[in-house]
Formats: sequence, C-alpha cells, structure tokens
Amino acid sequence: MNISKSEILFEESRKRIPGGVNSPVRAFGSVGRTPLFIDHAKGSHITDVDGNEFLDYVCSWGPGILGHAHPEVVEAVQKACEKGLTYGAPTEKEWQLAELICEAMPSVEKVRLVSSGTEAVMSAIRAARGYTGRDKIIKFKGNYHGHSDGLLVKAGSAALTTAVPDSSGVPVSYTQNTLVALYNDMNSVSQLMEEYGNQVAAIIVEPVAANMGVVLPKAGFLEFLRQITTKYGSLLIFDEVITGFRLGFGGAQEYFGITPDLTTLGKIAGGGMPMAAYGGRGDIMDMVSPVGPVYQAGTLSGNPIATTAGIVTLEILKKHPEYYGEIERKARQLARAFEERAERSGEAIWVNQIGSLLSVFFTAGPVEDYDSATASDTKAYAAYFGRMLEQGVYVAPSQFEAMFVSIAHTDSEIEETCRVIVERNERTE
Ligand SMILES: *Cc1c(COP(=O)(O)O)cnc(C)c1O
Repeated sequence: MNISKSEILFEESRKRIPGGVNSPVRAFGSVGRTPLFIDHAKGSHITDVDGNEFLDYVCSWGPGILGHAHPEVVEAVQKACEKGLTYGAPTEKEWQLAELICEAMPSVEKVRLVSSGTEAVMSAIRAARGYTGRDKIIKFKGNYHGHSDGLLVKAGSAALTTAVPDSSGVPVSYTQNTLVALYNDMNSVSQLMEEYGNQVAAIIVEPVAANMGVVLPKAGFLEFLRQITTKYGSLLIFDEVITGFRLGFGGAQEYFGITPDLTTLGKIAGGGMPMAAYGGRGDIMDMVSPVGPVYQAGTLSGNPIATTAGIVTLEILKKHPEYYGEIERKARQLARAFEERAERSGEAIWVNQIGSLLSVFFTAGPVEDYDSATASDTKAYAAYFGRMLEQGVYVAPSQFEAMFVSIAHTDSEIEETCRVIVERNERTE
C-alpha cells in the first residue's frame, strides 16, 4: 500500500504538535480519516501535498468568500510586505479598515482591531461588563464564541443554570458568571432574565448559528433578544465572526434589520489573514483603554499586512453587491441537491441554508437548536464526507460546521457538486 505524503506529514507532525494540528477539527477525528496536508489553493480549488485537487467548500472555515488567492488581495499584500510587516504604531490602513467596517454596519460607530475572533469576543464582553458594571453574560447552547475561558462552557445539570466548563483547564470559578440559554427558545431567555436580568451585562448570540451546523434564528427570536436586553439594561452582542460580510455586506444585522449594541467580526474581515474586530456604540467603545478603564491591547493588532488583506477584500465586496445574490443562489442549488438525494434515497436528511451558508444533517429534522442538531447521525455524515472526498469535493470534516460557497465557485462546479451529492456514490460500508 502506498503511503501518502499527507500520512507521513501527519505522523511527523503528531510528534511535535499535539494531534498534529493547530486547531482540533483539522485532525479529521470525527470522520475517522487522516487529514490532508495542503500545499496550495487557488480560486475554488485546494490541492494537497500529494497533488490531489479538490473543490473546496470549507473556505478556511469562512474567510474565503472571494475564493483562494484572489489576485487583487495577493498583489496588495505583496506590496504591503515590502513596506514592512509591522510597526507597532498607528497607520492609515487601520483607519481605512475601521471606516469600511463602520460604513458596512451602522451599529458600529467605533471599532477596535484585534487578531482573532476569540480575542474579539473576549474583549467585547469585557467592554460590556465595564460599561454596565455587571458581571453575568448569557450565551446559547451550541453557539461558539472562541476558546476563552468564560465562553468554553456547557449548560450545568439543571436545565437553566450557571454554566460549567466544557474543557479541562478551565476553573469552575471562571464560568460562574456565564449563563446558558437555549437557541431559538425565548422562554429559556425570559426565565434567566427574570432571575438575573439586573446582573446581566450582555446576551451574546450568533445571529445565525453556524457552529452546530447552520441553524437559522426563528422568526422573532432576534427581535425578542433586542427587546429583552433593552428592557433589563443589558447589551446585545452579535457575534458576526462568520455572518459578518457573509450574509450581506452589512452582515446578519442588516439581513434581519436588528441593531446590536456590540458586534464581533473576524474571518472575512481579515481577508484570510489573522484579523478580527469588535465594535459598536461609541459610548460603549469609549470604555476601552486608552479612553476608558477597560484594558485591551495587542502587539500585532491592526498590523499592516492583515489590514491590507481586510481592506481589499471588503472593498471588492462593497463594489460587487451582486456577489451576495450569486452565492446565495448557488447555495440554494446545493441545498436542493441534498433534498433531491433524500427524495430519491429515502435517507433522513435535513438541510438548513441561508445566504451562502448551508449544512446537511442526517436526521429527519427540523434542526432548529442544539439538541435537534446533535440528533444527526454523525456516522452517516462521515460516510458522506468520505464519498465527497473520493469524488474530489472537500467539505467540512465535521457535521457541526457549515458548507461555504464563494464567488470563485462557478456554475458548472456547483452543478458537478450537485451531481456528486445526488448520486450518493454508495459504497458497501
Ligand atoms: C470562528 C468563530 C469564532 C472564533 O474566531 P477565531 O478567529 O477562530 O478565534 C468566534 N465566533 C464565531 C461565531 C466563530 O465562527
């Protein structure tokens, strides 16, 4: 049997890097395979170190809305590199990117640039606590907000209660101010607010959940969060690290017409470089140091290379509002292919799709919260993943991640993908 270069690299990497990867889901653990080591990517295609080429629907987990190595972005980054990689001093580019973000999202009057979504969320919550003088936050079961201590939680044993750590190494004391409600369940939020409302600094939500697979907010759910936070003097934080510049240039807040107090951004905002941001109402953001008493800093925050990639990416998206309709149409086509497959095969399949985000679940559905998402047959997902890969289509190696469509996916590539989806390519397992 031939051993692939990916297999060799995985073996070697595992000796030096825990699990051989720098982010767990990359290890292909939940689909029981060896991860592909990537050599390069261009447009809608990604190529591994063995020279196998795939149509890519992972898109680096969201940033790749323009496809890989978009020539304008690459050229701008190359030019920026020649001017120095980092100065640790303010630049015109930081202001330009801030202007672009504020223009895209009118709820964001002031914005701070950071280097990862985790950092953006952690800092937004600190600002919310500083502003309100309150300690508690409410998050939703199945929403992901990065790996900071207070957010890496699961619901405690009593249905609606203080969270408990969802990772070893997180002290219980770090999570005792995090309350967990159920996504799309207004009642669970009301109950927590009735009991703790005047201690709640903020409710943080993924306006479209995309880290338990894609789960859409029910009609009225986001409006309700806006109302109840206002009623109790708590802030509403939209974690738009995935949805920002993805559901539309103005993100989920524009799509649903809801104005959050604070917003976190990442992924697309950095155009493929480590770049993220948090921002919102000016009076809240002015709590942040050096204006206010909430401390937050970063050596490489707003560095000129990442800001360049972000600026060029956002400018392209701003110039081409029609891109959003195109990628939405393509995502709908893929969603229909899954439905057609279910009709033909009788498999229990449920698809959630919004804009260019979609997820297939191997369950009869409907999938509208964490419990119904985790009812999906992950073995069936792993089999589906393997068949797609063998047909040259690279989808997320986990049930609980989104499928991302980029502007680089051509109509014929979408049709080819639909064919692969519908035909199942059933093997005897
Ligand atoms: C990816 C993601 C994060 C974390 O961002 P990182 O850059 O991986 O730290 C936070 N929130 C949401 C909604 C995300 O999808």
